[in-house]
Amino acid sequence: MNTEFAHTVFIRGLEINACHGVHDFEKTQPQLFVIDARLNIGYSPEVVKDRLEGTVSYSDACKVIEKTVLNNTFNLIEKLAAECAYSLLNEFPLISGVEITVKKPEAPVKYKLDTVGVNFSAQRVKAYLSLGSSQGDRKKYLYSALRALNDVRGVKVLKISSFIENAPYGGVAENMFLNCAAEIETYLSPFVLLDEIHVIEERLGRVRGKRWDDRTLDIDIIFYGGHVIEDERLTVPHADYINRDFVLIPLKEIAPDFLCPLLNKRVKDL
Ligand code: ATP
Ligand code: CA
Ligand code: CA
Repeated sequence: MNTEFAHTVFIRGLEINACHGVHDFEKTQPQLFVIDARLNIGYSPEVVKDRLEGTVSYSDACKVIEKTVLNNTFNLIEKLAAECAYSLLNEFPLISGVEITVKKPEAPVKYKLDTVGVNFSAQRVKAYLSLGSSQGDRKKYLYSALRALNDVRGVKVLKISSFIENAPYGGVAENMFLNCAAEIETYLSPFVLLDEIHVIEERLGRVRGKRWDDRTLDIDIIFYGGHVIEDERLTVPHADYINRDFVLIPLKEIAPDFLCPLLNKRVKDL
């Protein structure tokens, strides 16, 4: 990415009276919330030409924040901060990442303090998924899964590989698999993305049995941007993708130049 003309738009100290908090009275009696936002704008040739189209107008951004703060009632300012970030990312495709601070100076606590608050940040990243199905109408499951992914707020499916048929992996399943890969753009954290994937798998008839057994639908996260994640719930890049042709062949089709952050090699060279 050309970062030469990348810039940040920031808003500090936006004051909005609204109803958020865990106490009942906070849900009906407005109090002050003070919001800071940092909007990272990627390279934009329009800025070089001094045109507003190349950036995000701060008054439009304030309007989006205000709407989110006024049209909801949340228990947590953590949730409020996340929703402000998500609305900004939804509304303005030019924003590559956003950091929100929500302060609540009148929070009902017994301590004398200036303010309490939270930070939340979200970045748009490209992620690569491997999808597989070995039961029922396999093609339909893959298409339904791709549509369902695209319908998740914060996920856009950008590219889909060809569907290829493969023998089952791991010596457990009996049926042939249909597999594909997808490139998505998302601002969901990898763990939230995994939760959404599990919801889609379940909705499309996945019954969790033995690992590698036949299933209507399996969606694995192969890459999440350049991030490396080692967690008991999630390993990214996927722990075994390098040994699987049914992952690598579709990936090479849609993302030959993607750099695996672990192996430091391009997909086409794997
Ligand atoms: P494999 O992961 O070897 O392809 P599988 O897809 O059959 O096996 P599942 O039963 O679908 O395994 O998933 C088991 C768990 O793996 C999930 O609940 C999830 O928490 C975890 N997991 C770890 N890393 C990933 C990843 N990169 N993508 C998807 N799930 C992952
Ligand atoms: Ca899998
Ligand atoms: Ca899986």
